[in-house]
Amino acid sequence: MTIHDITLTITPDLPVWPGDPPIRLSQPAHLERGDAYTLTRLDMSAHTGTHLDAPAHFIRGGATVESLDLATLIGPALVVDARGRGHLSAETLEALDIPAGVRRLLFRTDNSLRWQRGETAFAEDFIAIEPSGAAWLVERGVRLVGIDYLSVGSFDDGVATHQILLGAGVIAVEGLDLSAIEAGDYQLICLAIKIGGADGAPCRAVLMR
Ligand SMILES: [Zn+2]
Repeated sequence: MTIHDITLTITPDLPVWPGDPPIRLSQPAHLERGDAYTLTRLDMSAHTGTHLDAPAHFIRGGATVESLDLATLIGPALVVDARGRGHLSAETLEALDIPAGVRRLLFRTDNSLRWQRGETAFAEDFIAIEPSGAAWLVERGVRLVGIDYLSVGSFDDGVATHQILLGAGVIAVEGLDLSAIEAGDYQLICLAIKIGGADGAPCRAVLMR
């Protein structure tokens, strides 16, 4: 069995959504400074790096992270190669020959090149899922959708995409690094940190086969 880590490493250099808190890692205690132990403090948003959006992110009264069904976050997943394409509209998804009945879908787009290149600046022109694509996914019964940049929705027009997916209870996993992953079937494990009442949380996401 091969285990592929598709998680971004959290460092202060990782891009964050404009206006979100910056990532700060500090060590209030450190062995090198004579303390008895080293202790790292995290200051960052719940939507840092590889993370998921719970319905509460865009839906009033929506489910929060600690109550998400683990059966959605673990199981068979299909990685779809969407490189060389623009935003994922219903038409684009239709053309990708995605088999019926897939519950977990991860899209490898040109975004993953940004992680491969180690880009640290936020890219406003990342590839996202259009509202028509989101509706297509909901209609198909998809329960988890993953994308390889920091939002499922586009920079200029991302609200509707989130509302459609999260409103239907679909879990959005964002900030995946799929640069080394070929298209095909895998087992996904994507466990979010169990933060009570939170609208999102960082995940460690792996694909196995
Ligand atoms: Zn998010």
